[in-house]
Amino acid sequence: MKRRQFVGGLAAAAGVAACSSEPGDCDSVAAAGDERFEWSCVTSWPPKYPGMGMGVENLAARIDASSGGRLKIKVYGGGELVPAFEVFDAVSRGTVEMGHDASYYHKGKVEAAQYFTTIPFGMNHLELNGWLYYGGGLELWRELYAPFNLVPIPCGNTGVQMGGWFNKEINTVDDLKGLKMRIPGLGGEVLRRAGGTAVAMAGAETFTSIQTGVIDAAEWVGAYNDVAFGLHKTARYYYYPGWHEPGPGLETIINREAWKLLPADLQAIVETSCQAITTDMMAEYTHGNARALQQLINDPNVEIRPFPPEVLDLLESITREVVAEMSEGDPLTARIEESYYAFLEISRANQRVTEQAYLETRD
Ligand code: CA
Repeated sequence: MKRRQFVGGLAAAAGVAACSSEPGDCDSVAAAGDERFEWSCVTSWPPKYPGMGMGVENLAARIDASSGGRLKIKVYGGGELVPAFEVFDAVSRGTVEMGHDASYYHKGKVEAAQYFTTIPFGMNHLELNGWLYYGGGLELWRELYAPFNLVPIPCGNTGVQMGGWFNKEINTVDDLKGLKMRIPGLGGEVLRRAGGTAVAMAGAETFTSIQTGVIDAAEWVGAYNDVAFGLHKTARYYYYPGWHEPGPGLETIINREAWKLLPADLQAIVETSCQAITTDMMAEYTHGNARALQQLINDPNVEIRPFPPEVLDLLESITREVVAEMSEGDPLTARIEESYYAFLEISRANQRVTEQAYLETRD
């Protein structure tokens, strides 16, 4: 098999025009043929981790099978090739061709990236996909990432998450004061303004941190992943819902020069496979969460509780402030915010008379 050596400067050296900063300017420059590609994909997940980690392994297997072996992707867990939170930089620089993680991990570089994972009290997974694929969201995301030499592709979703594990009860808004919690993204900023301290750390560090009392609380994902990390052995109270992550979408990011060197049929295989993984991952989470929650319901050391309404009301009002500040002075962020909330507003009415009404009726 011929190995396609990929380095950041190869495209220019081979006489291929680099992607401009114009959104959409990432069409293939390669002719369809039997050329074979070998890519590396770095991720933020523990190797072969249920849900997210397996999702990217399945993605690589699907692409291999669908392309007849023309595009082979070797997947690396967080820390195996680059640290878990350096996926964005590694793919942007062209150290590797591809990455899989969550866009909100990059809020320090590009704050508006958080819209494409999740916004507290924002879209659920159905709405996020509706916005990305039919409401202009994906075009805005590609525009946002173009200066970083990255092509983002939606790839996976966990569905609505859980509120997290707490080693003390949350009965009033005062219980948030001084609370040290592992919570990423905008949710972390909202907690900070409510008087807590938000700590960012990779999922794999969470168990030890809460067990040793370095933090008082931690959110990770939901029952399926939380049980896999043993979080139910570290804290007694398991709160719901995941107000901060109501349907977070994951991303495949591809270095734009590497992307352009793929023939159009392989590009289509990558995009279609990512879409298949989104569906497959939701199926895995829907099944895995249901089974794992049964285990927690039957665990005498775990209490599953809803957040008090006054706590959720405060967090929602702070979220509105935080979101409004994010777009100040940044026209692209303002366009993303406007597009996101324009769709959410009309979707809210539709969800209320469909999913929401049905689930309430079924109980
Ligand atoms: Ca989470």
